[in-house]
Amino acid sequence: LVEISDVHKSFGQVEVLRGVSLTVEPGEVVVILGPSGSGKSTLLRTINHLEKVDAGHISVDGELVGYKARGGRLHELREKEILAQRTHIGMVFQNFNLFPHLTAVENIIEAPVYAQHRPHAQARARALELLERVGLSDKVDVYPRQLSGGQQQRVAIARALALDPKIVLFDEPTSALDPELVGEVLDVIRSLADSGTTLIVVTHEMGFARDVADRVVFMDQGQIVEEGTPLQIFGAPQHERTKAFLSKVI
Ligand code: ATP
Ligand code: MG
Repeated sequence: LVEISDVHKSFGQVEVLRGVSLTVEPGEVVVILGPSGSGKSTLLRTINHLEKVDAGHISVDGELVGYKARGGRLHELREKEILAQRTHIGMVFQNFNLFPHLTAVENIIEAPVYAQHRPHAQARARALELLERVGLSDKVDVYPRQLSGGQQQRVAIARALALDPKIVLFDEPTSALDPELVGEVLDVIRSLADSGTTLIVVTHEMGFARDVADRVVFMDQGQIVEEGTPLQIFGAPQHERTKAFLSKVI
């Protein structure tokens, strides 16, 4: 479903992604681990073209991300085409990023109604379903500031699902939460995984990675150092850098 092929990305002089290749199959749950600054967020952001790659390419469901080939060359898509592509890729950030002036349900219908021009009643019905799915049927008309961090993040997950994305990307979805709220968010992500949604999750929650990931990818210094099943990575890491990282976090 996702093909990342030899992607390079620099910020100024610093090469943050140094030839990353990764394939994600439909329905697969891939967890990305790695130290701070290893390029995890940057990699996620290239998948929906929030960051442009300098070299290499990415495709989602057979469609090149951010570019189209014409006359043997790649041309960057127009803003509108990029936005259309992004509707297939849900993203959930560390800090929820809800619209503070919109209620829970309004946050969720914003993209379907205003960006995609879906009928309001239909979008609302779908939003109510999604709020139920994340356990927030009683918070439909509530503003983000009236919600706990865990509840806000669950609204953000519902919002990411509103356009029926092919894949959902999570960038440390629980690291801004108080410890007692982490579980409720991980449970929602786990239920998405169980229902067959394709997920890429950057997280430091090792228990979650172990239980839910089909595959664990360890990144360091802009490269994928090692990947494998949770059993392989946690049970018998091959690379010294993986071993050193895991010994610090577990
Ligand atoms: P963390 O675990 O702390 O979130 P990360 O693995 O997500 O780290 P990135 O955020 O991808 O790491 O950052 C990788 C490197 O790229 C860091 O050195 C960071 O300072 C740098 N970087 C990221 N975004 C930018 C930017 N927009 N401009 C300049 N440098 C950037
Ligand atoms: Mg990050």
